[in-house]
Amino acid sequence: MSRIVKCMCEECLYNNNNACTADAVEIKSSNNLRVNSPDDTMCNTFRSRKGGKDKEGNIYTSL
Ligand code: SF4
Repeated sequence: MSRIVKCMCEECLYNNNNACTADAVEIKSSNNLRVNSPDDTMCNTFRSRKGGKDKEGNIYTSL
């Protein structure tokens, strides 16, 4: 499995100094049928440091 060595999404609770600390991540296309650039992708594992709801609607709290 590949390892994420850099992520600039500092709002994610898994982000520590621009490194991802999640055990695994799921990357999805961001609603486009055809992905042509990085802008067309998104990390489905993202969790806000403030807490919130995941994509399935499950409520989670910050760590
Ligand atoms: S879970 Fe996704 S958004 Fe969060 S730090 Fe890891 S790669 Fe970045």
